[in-house]
Amino acid sequence: EKSKLRHLKSAKSETIDGVEVQLFANIELPGDVPVALECGAEGVGLFRTEFLFLDRGDMPDEQEQYEAYKKVVKGMAGRPVTIRTFDLGADKDLNPQASAGDRVKTNPALGRRAIRLSLAEPRMFQTQLRAILRASRHGPIKLLIPMLAHAHEIDQTLAALEQAKSSLRGEKAAFDENIEVGGMIEIPAAALAIGLFLRRLDFLSIGTNDLIQYTLAIDRTDEQVSALYDPLHPAVLMLVAHTLASAEKVGIPVSVCGEMAGDPELTRLLLGMGLRTFSMHPSQILRVKQRVLKSEVNELAPNVRKILRLDEPGKLREALARLNA
Ligand code: PEP
Ligand code: MG
Repeated sequence: EKSKLRHLKSAKSETIDGVEVQLFANIELPGDVPVALECGAEGVGLFRTEFLFLDRGDMPDEQEQYEAYKKVVKGMAGRPVTIRTFDLGADKDLNPQASAGDRVKTNPALGRRAIRLSLAEPRMFQTQLRAILRASRHGPIKLLIPMLAHAHEIDQTLAALEQAKSSLRGEKAAFDENIEVGGMIEIPAAALAIGLFLRRLDFLSIGTNDLIQYTLAIDRTDEQVSALYDPLHPAVLMLVAHTLASAEKVGIPVSVCGEMAGDPELTRLLLGMGLRTFSMHPSQILRVKQRVLKSEVNELAPNVRKILRLDEPGKLREALARLNA
């Protein structure tokens, strides 16, 4: 099976009816780039930068971050790289104010994590934004913001980015003035009030790992409820489909970068919903490509519309099995 997949590496990723599909890699550290390329990644769809932190336990300074981002973008040699700002907190805990006597966090996944933490720590955020901007002169970089729920969080983020740009202009440092800014759709509120996001951002990326956690009220780290963590729950599918359809209507690009994108059993379902950009663990890329090559979007789309009207789990699973047959 492995050698059969390997020869797919150079195959163009498109469906039988000629619909092009982008297959990107999720990475955690610059050292993941060679593996991503080896697996045929056409770009990095999600660079989880918090691993630069978690790897060492304290904050890398601007120069170290710049070197790390530059290494990724240079390594990808002209392919697009989407860098997500720190998604710290919750299961990726590292509290820069540990000594400030924070209250005990009983619900860390609902607490001050990701963009909430970045906006609360402006110095940390400026350092990261400056480092990413500086790296953007070495190749195509997009900026991705995790865990957005509110319009004002986007507005504050864009203001922080403008501040970082203006400080770099003052130093005559080169960077991409038109860097694209995207938002993760991983809180149900964001998927439902999607218009706020479509009006403010250049692209979206659906984080199904958190979207499932928050939609079903299942702590993704709690083994006692892991059997209830279900990507095929009709409510989850409705939110993903709604996000994809809404973005398509206004021509805003949208990808999926949660685990759902790397599951070949879900490739056809997502293709039928309109997804054209998948970002996943590198090890899944060729398996998903194999599915893409054997799929026909024209035939899938009407069947997927029917699946999305089903809300009985048994019927939904049967219909998915037929779609994959
Ligand atoms: C997600 O939530 O689906 C996602 C891609 O981000 P992470 O798994 O890093 O939270
Ligand atoms: Mg997430």
